[in-house]
Amino acid sequence: MNEQAAVFNALNAEISDRNARLVAVSKTQSVEKIQALFDLGQRVFGENRVQELLAKQPLLPVEIEWHLIGHLQSNKVKFIAPIVSLIQSVDSFKLLQEVDNQAVRCGRVIDCLLQFHVAEEETKFGFSEKAAREMLTNPEFSSLQNVRICGIMGMATFTENQSQVRLEFRRLRQIFEQTKADFFSDNPSFRELSMGMSGDYKIALEEGATMVRIGGLLFK
Ligand SMILES: *Cc1c(COP(=O)(O)O)cnc(C)c1O
Repeated sequence: MNEQAAVFNALNAEISDRNARLVAVSKTQSVEKIQALFDLGQRVFGENRVQELLAKQPLLPVEIEWHLIGHLQSNKVKFIAPIVSLIQSVDSFKLLQEVDNQAVRCGRVIDCLLQFHVAEEETKFGFSEKAAREMLTNPEFSSLQNVRICGIMGMATFTENQSQVRLEFRRLRQIFEQTKADFFSDNPSFRELSMGMSGDYKIALEEGATMVRIGGLLFK
C-alpha cells in the first residue's frame, strides 16, 4: 500500500469512528492526484475556487460530489449551479437568493451550509449570529424554494493555541444547536456541522463536527 493509501485509510477510520464524513479538499491538486484518491474510494471533494472547479470537474468521474468551500461571488453562482452538490460557504442573504435563482433555472434544489464567522481574523468570511438571525426571520427567506439549508460551516483562527481553537469550535457547535432549535427544529436536513482542517480536525471531531475538510494532510 502506498503512503497516500495508508494516510487515507487511517484518516477515514478515525473520521467514521466519530460518525463524521471526510471532504477531501483538492484545491491546487492535479486531476491525476484527485483521480488517485477517487480510486481509493473517496467520493466527496471540496474546491474553493469556481474557475478551478469548472476546469477539473469535466475531467473526473461523474460520481464525485463536489462541494464549494470558498467565498463565492454572486455573479459566479450560475456557473456552478448545475454541478455542485453542496455549497458550504453561503455567507450572505444576497448570495443565498442568487443560489435559489440559479437552482430554479436548473430545475434543481441546491444544498447549502451557512458559513459563520467565529475566528479572530477579519479575513475570514461568514455570517455573524445577528446577520444570520436577520436573514432567517426575513419572510423572503421562507419563500426560497430551491435551496435546502443543511447546517453550518466555520473555521477556527489559524493559531497554535489549541484551547482557543477548541473554544471556537465549541462556539460553532452552539450556533449550530441554537440555529437548529430556533429555525430548523422540524427539518431533518439541517444536520451538518462542517469544521476542522488538516491542523485541527481532531479537535473539531471531539467538538462534534459531522464533516471535516482536509487537504494538505491527504495530498502531501
Ligand atoms: C484549504 C481549505 C481547507 C483545507 O485546509 P488544509 O489545511 O489543507 O487541510 C478547509 N477548508 C477551507 C475553507 C479551505 O479553504
